[in-house]
Amino acid sequence: MRLVYTENMHALSLPPGHKFPLGKYDRIHAELAADHEELLTLGAPATVEDVKLVHDAGYVEDVRQGTLSAVAVRRLGFPWSPSLVTRAMRSVGGTLAALEWAMQFGAAGHIAGGTHHAFRDRGEGFCVFNDLAVAAAVAMRDHGARRIGIVDLDVHQGNGTAAIFADDPRVFCLSIHGSKNYPFDKERSTLDVALPDDVTDDTYLAALDSALERVRAHQPDIVFYQSGVDCLSGDRLGRMRLSHQALRTRNARVYALARSLHVPLVVTLGGGYGRDIERTVRAHVDVYRGLVSAFS
Ligand SMILES: [Zn+2]
Repeated sequence: MRLVYTENMHALSLPPGHKFPLGKYDRIHAELAADHEELLTLGAPATVEDVKLVHDAGYVEDVRQGTLSAVAVRRLGFPWSPSLVTRAMRSVGGTLAALEWAMQFGAAGHIAGGTHHAFRDRGEGFCVFNDLAVAAAVAMRDHGARRIGIVDLDVHQGNGTAAIFADDPRVFCLSIHGSKNYPFDKERSTLDVALPDDVTDDTYLAALDSALERVRAHQPDIVFYQSGVDCLSGDRLGRMRLSHQALRTRNARVYALARSLHVPLVVTLGGGYGRDIERTVRAHVDVYRGLVSAFS
């Protein structure tokens, strides 16, 4: 088991008042370093070749060279800067490192990534490149994976991942998300579970259980988990009100699925935008603490 971190995820120049919580990465890392220092390992940037396994070459070059259109930059939600490129390549690289550790040890987490709104030819919603999709493609290319399960429990639909693998039956994309939440024009995942605002813990967990059984039936060789915690109560963007306990149970059920299938598990970060950022950090930290206790 290893927990991969990515250097300088907070280092991004954003205009004053920007709603993206850059500070949370260092906070999560610090909390995990306090009790799991020996498990932490630094990731490396992805190669352009790996990113282009999924993303169109023209889009990748526009990102790298800063030649995205004004419309593309607005859709992304981050202004372009050299630090944006560095950060995006590191973010994908960290998930690829977690994939390699998971192949070796059975499970690994990346304390960044989960950028599921990135499409082959464009980014949106703070997501430049789709680390989950690149890592799934690398698992098939390098590790002989024939069937992939992507469990995306961020409160927002994993629209980029769904679109990227829409015509690839090897990849089962599950997205459990808020029906009234962004993205408003949803893509079609292999299985979409759209839940109403203010769904209760019990309803959420019941929906999760039946959805995970569908993932199990796909018989994946590897499972990726996008562990966004923006369905926590008090999230500014979430519209759900799940408790910390429900999220811990949610995480544990995903871990139990991977364990019972005897397949590697790769966990990434995801959204989390609490009015009180401490609550968000606690929920993110719970994801990785739960992973460590499930696999050690
Ligand atoms: Zn989200």
